[in-house]
Amino acid sequence: MRTLNFSAGPGTLPIQVLEQAQRDLVDYQGRGLSVMEMSHRSPDYDDIHLGAIGAMGTLLGVPDTHDVLFLQGGASLQFAMVPMNLMGPDGSADYVVTGTWAKKAYQEAQKFGRARLVASTEEIGHARVPHGSEMDVDPGAAYFHYTSNNTITGTQFHTMPDVGEVPLVCDMSSDILSRPVNVAAHGLIYAGAQKNMGPAGTTAVIVQKDLLDRAPDSLPTTLGYKIHSDKESRYNTPPCWAIYIVGLVCRWVASQGGLTAMARINEEKAAILYERIDRNDFYRGPVEVESRSRMNVPFRLPSEDLEARFLVAAGEAQMSNLKGHRSVGGIRASIYNAMPKSGVEALVGFMDEFERQNG
Ligand code: PMP
Repeated sequence: MRTLNFSAGPGTLPIQVLEQAQRDLVDYQGRGLSVMEMSHRSPDYDDIHLGAIGAMGTLLGVPDTHDVLFLQGGASLQFAMVPMNLMGPDGSADYVVTGTWAKKAYQEAQKFGRARLVASTEEIGHARVPHGSEMDVDPGAAYFHYTSNNTITGTQFHTMPDVGEVPLVCDMSSDILSRPVNVAAHGLIYAGAQKNMGPAGTTAVIVQKDLLDRAPDSLPTTLGYKIHSDKESRYNTPPCWAIYIVGLVCRWVASQGGLTAMARINEEKAAILYERIDRNDFYRGPVEVESRSRMNVPFRLPSEDLEARFLVAAGEAQMSNLKGHRSVGGIRASIYNAMPKSGVEALVGFMDEFERQNG
């Protein structure tokens, strides 16, 4: 029996995708071999690879000015690749620190040049994202980096920062494909696949082509975006299986009505859960209302002891991975695209019952 998996990542995947992968696992479409066993230069894999790039591009409305890449090394490698490729020899870049991952990106960038802290919400425990007026953008910055959704503290930018002509760079690891995105307004978007898009093992990068020539010649080949763009993400052996699953997930999202429909469903799911949290003082959300994430919903109970009991009882009720990140504690329900509304309703029902017994 499958559990309702509220994991922050790797996260739950659509059952239709898992079942399709199961059918293809041993014998892909009658070819007598698995996707995992195919040459990455074979015609069948051509279709899978270019199909996934195309499906993601169509879903996100990626314009001709941008390329979709599938790389390895996780979103964490992007913390380094972004400044290595885009900062320029004497350049500086702007960073907004809204949580653990944003801070890691900022710290990594400091190794490659001048990373400027535009705003930080650390002092308020990252309880919200900064307002536009708090972000003092440098018009000469090589780029402006922000994290659209903060997986650990559960905050989300609901509007893009306004940075004028400065290229926007966004870590969308935990909300990509959850809502429409203005790709054209971004110089670069990156996201690890393992939350809303597929298994761990590939990272999508959507990059504006005219930024690709900024990288210094001294850059190791595989750490430059240009080679991956020139070779359509097959300069070397790509993570074929992960890319295949991402392709299936993109098609599943399209079958749900695409990103506008996905955003509506995600808003509904989040509203159901936040309404329960706000109903009385038993459950408490630490995030300011206007910055609440529609993907990762953290909440607290009256005591750590009750939180521990909540997690045990949830496990018994087949609801898994509700423990908050170890750095902040508490409970966190990640309700990515593949978590159905009925799963959120089941969680709310469980929360009601737990309160009835322990409140
Ligand atoms: N950015 C965000 C917003 C994340 O949530 C995570 C992982 N939880 C990362 C970056 C790091 O991703 P990876 O493990 O793929 O390096």
